[in-house]
Amino acid sequence: MAKIANDNPVDQDGEVKDNIILPFQLQESGLRGRSIRLGSALNNILSNHNYPDAIAHLVADTVTMAVALSSMLKYDGIFTLQASGKGVVKTLVADVQNNGALRGCASFDNDAFLDLKKSGGLYDGYSLTDLTGEGYVAFTVDQGAHTDRYQGIVALEGDSLQDSIAHYFEQSEQLRTSLYIASRNDEGQWRAGALMLQYLPDDHAGEGDVVAFSEKSEAERKEDWHRSKTLLQTCTDDEILDADMHINELLRRLFHEEGVIVYDEKTVRHECRCSQEKVESVVDGLSVDDKKHAAKDGKIEMTCEFCSKTFIIEI
Ligand SMILES: [Zn+2]
Repeated sequence: MAKIANDNPVDQDGEVKDNIILPFQLQESGLRGRSIRLGSALNNILSNHNYPDAIAHLVADTVTMAVALSSMLKYDGIFTLQASGKGVVKTLVADVQNNGALRGCASFDNDAFLDLKKSGGLYDGYSLTDLTGEGYVAFTVDQGAHTDRYQGIVALEGDSLQDSIAHYFEQSEQLRTSLYIASRNDEGQWRAGALMLQYLPDDHAGEGDVVAFSEKSEAERKEDWHRSKTLLQTCTDDEILDADMHINELLRRLFHEEGVIVYDEKTVRHECRCSQEKVESVVDGLSVDDKKHAAKDGKIEMTCEFCSKTFIIEI
């Protein structure tokens, strides 16, 4: 735990790190938050594909959003965020394991994408739903056979995935959350960042919180929430994507009047879960006819849609 004092730049020394989730808490209000920075972990995911920029951007947002949402939960398994649409883009999916392994991909109709581009339908500042059409975004936590899968679902709407998720949180009094996310390709290197603030009900306030919510009146809590949320939204893309700025410095800039405490960071990395074994079990499940249909010279070639690794199965 480290306190970021107004006039003490010591905490901003040290290495500027990427691929981290950094929990923080505001002293004035007790509100909790997360700051997320993705560099090589995101870039490695996207460099396995040759997505057009507009699609890569959506995948970057999906991966970043998955990291942000998963960081709110305690789980032992796999968190998955999946957007499904009827438009050019069929699915956007990212998953995060509790050990920090991260992956993501998109499936889309390339011909339809090129047609949309040619027709001028993909103008600067296109919205999410220009590409996905109607659809929904869902998140699940898979903790194995013996535990529940938690699922949240909301319609795709607005300009970005962030808009849809913000709408989900607006509908839920229990999970008041404010988010800021951004991603960008800087000279061939993808980066992303996210900031998130949560308004937790009393029974979620953790032990050791600097300010117990119960000490505040409802009106004070609301005022704290609105003030802090407004400060979070003053963040800019340039700040959150600045590879040279320490994340503590960003938090200090945004919340210096609130006082910020940062906790131990968690790291994430790009890692896929595909394997020869898993692919073989998929092929085993096919009918004899399907196997024949898929095979060429007695071999079935399958490519992992997440990491583009190719597996060959002899049948
Ligand atoms: Zn893979």
